[in-house]
Amino acid sequence: MDGKADLHLHTTFSDGELPPRDLLLRARSGGLSTISITDHDHTGAWGEAVVLSRELGIRVIPGVELSASVGEQEVHLLGYFFDPENETLRRTLEFFREERIRRARRILEKLHELNVPLRFEAVLAKAGNGSVGRPHIANALVEEGLTETYQQAFLKYLGSGKPAYEKKYQISPREAIALVSGAGGLSFVAHPGNTVDEDLLQRLIREGVDGIEVVHPSHSEELVAYYRGIAEEYCLLISGGSDFHGGRKNDATALGTYAVALEDVEAMERRLHR
Ligand code: AMP
Ligand code: ZN
Ligand code: FE
Ligand code: FE
Repeated sequence: MDGKADLHLHTTFSDGELPPRDLLLRARSGGLSTISITDHDHTGAWGEAVVLSRELGIRVIPGVELSASVGEQEVHLLGYFFDPENETLRRTLEFFREERIRRARRILEKLHELNVPLRFEAVLAKAGNGSVGRPHIANALVEEGLTETYQQAFLKYLGSGKPAYEKKYQISPREAIALVSGAGGLSFVAHPGNTVDEDLLQRLIREGVDGIEVVHPSHSEELVAYYRGIAEEYCLLISGGSDFHGGRKNDATALGTYAVALEDVEAMERRLHR
């Protein structure tokens, strides 16, 4: 079968710059025949994506990116092929988004204590109807002239361990996996090269992830080969994508560059029907 699949994309329903339509158009130009929109804690792009999928002749698979924590460490998990209408999933994602708003308020309180007078409205204006995240806060800080650059906002205030850092609502990887499988989907360890060491990866495998995101901009060729080897060894599925947000480093050329084969997607479907 022809074509390739990018299974890690963000839209304005979380911290991406592009609305679903623009994203699908860009994806098609990048030569992608299958995509998954994996907004953080949000499946709001799905309804629009289904319609656009037919119009533009590009296959869209339900997706989401969840954050879990193990001690102090945050792990991202990607869910695919779940039922986007699943009530438990919908309600839980909504709860996570409400928690993100409460967390953003706590971050702003900390910023205020640091004499950084960022207004909550400025953050909400950035987030629109999407899941509120630190990227929105960083962009608002830049726009309001309170930091010089996006990166500096993380270095000075928002990054893990920095003075305005606040954790997200904590769920365990096991709970995240159960949420996805309860809605009929498959879960994958997202970009393990970033933060997941060997012990943690072993733990996630024991806890039941279905696969690993092997292809990701943060993975060197060696890491891609390494994770392919792990996937083979443990009979895990393979995913991958660009983690495209629009407007970020690499994003100009990312679509079509970071992809997996349609065979990898077919393997997921076989696993689902087993
Ligand atoms: P959140 O979901 O609100 O915790 O925001 C996480 C997002 O913030 C990640 O997906 C990154 O895009 C971005 N981010 C996290 N840490 C940094 C950092 N140190 N520098 C730049 N961006 C970061
Ligand atoms: Zn993001
Ligand atoms: Fe992530
Ligand atoms: Fe992502």
